[in-house]
Amino acid sequence: MNEMAKLSGFEHIEHIDIPLPKEASKELFFQTDEDDERVWMPISDNVHIRPLLFNVVQGTWCNIVKAQGEGLVGRHRHPAPVLGYTLEGTWGYLEGDWIGRAGSFIYEPAGETHTLVVHPDEGHMKVLFHNMGPILYVDEKGEQTGYEDVFTRIAMYKKHCISNGLGEEFVDNLCR
Ligand code: FE
Repeated sequence: MNEMAKLSGFEHIEHIDIPLPKEASKELFFQTDEDDERVWMPISDNVHIRPLLFNVVQGTWCNIVKAQGEGLVGRHRHPAPVLGYTLEGTWGYLEGDWIGRAGSFIYEPAGETHTLVVHPDEGHMKVLFHNMGPILYVDEKGEQTGYEDVFTRIAMYKKHCISNGLGEEFVDNLCR
């Protein structure tokens, strides 16, 4: 392994086939089917995501995150900004001083580290997020424990959709 690979930490990331978008410049429009539970992929206990767009040109993605009860997304760092719009419920970050409620908007600048939790006021949350870049999972000392980007998300969601019958094409159709 060369020095650059060691410095970048690239050796920790499994090889992933980068899907070339067949119709990168084509608009993406669809009606979500709220009753189809298969579209929701579990990412931790009581937390599910519903991907809407995987932008493989920009390395960004859009998804709805829903969680309930003790649902928590472990401490992570965003090297690129995140935008969020609360659709339902109450939520926040352990590190934050606000409560997200239906209709609230958040812009998180690059460099933010936080732990997402459901706020007990309503006990559940549903938020539309636009992630402008990868997610680096970190422990309390800031040491990296995990990594996600648009390509790992596509790979995860393909596995999920193949196993539940929606199929790989369902995910390809969300890629631009
Ligand atoms: Fe986050």
